[in-house]
Amino acid sequence: MNGQNPGFLFETKENDFNLMSYKKEVDTCKNCFLGNYRTNTVIGEGKMPSDLMFIGEGPGDQEDREGRPFVGRAGELLTHTLTQLGLKRTEVWITNIIKCRAFDQVDHKKVNRPPRTEEIQACFSFLEREITAVNPRVIVALGSPSSSSLLGKNFKTITQDRGKWFNFKNIKVIPVFHPAYVLRQKGRLYDKTFETFLSDLQEAINGINLKTDTWNLPLFKK
Ligand code: SF4
Repeated sequence: MNGQNPGFLFETKENDFNLMSYKKEVDTCKNCFLGNYRTNTVIGEGKMPSDLMFIGEGPGDQEDREGRPFVGRAGELLTHTLTQLGLKRTEVWITNIIKCRAFDQVDHKKVNRPPRTEEIQACFSFLEREITAVNPRVIVALGSPSSSSLLGKNFKTITQDRGKWFNFKNIKVIPVFHPAYVLRQKGRLYDKTFETFLSDLQEAINGINLKTDTWNLPLFKK
């Protein structure tokens, strides 16, 4: 556990990546418009290095207030699902493609929105540094913005491509539903969507040891 910042859930081993200086750098970043309106920046947390890395689209209201990723209801669902699969949050790395909350002001209220292309591009080097430091065997892309940021035109829609395997810089990537999307479903549709989410995360865990003789291909699908 990193002793310098007990407010965050970090378990790091010695490597070239200095988490605290990285955090300071993100905290002072104004590379995009979102830097002017954040309460806190939100970098990843968990285990570093880790076989599994989860990447969501960006901090929401609660994450912005607490400065930690996936701490709202969607985060609770993710944590709950990981527990069902025998994993703790602290055994994986959880982060987002952007480090500041993206929102629109609607009737004096802040309403979350997906990050814009220019915001993703401005923030992407931070994500790449986290990926390099975490060195995952599998990246789980949570939702459409995260999947398309990593996979570009290879990714079509989350409905079409969830649960399939892709390649990002020789790391296996599996797009899955965003837990916030799962939570928006009602009744039987919720049960069905949650089952899909659960089985996709199981597939991601199985993928850690997936043998990929075709791994030199730019993209592979089951
Ligand atoms: S979202 Fe990323 S690029 Fe934009 S200000 Fe925040 S840290 Fe900087």
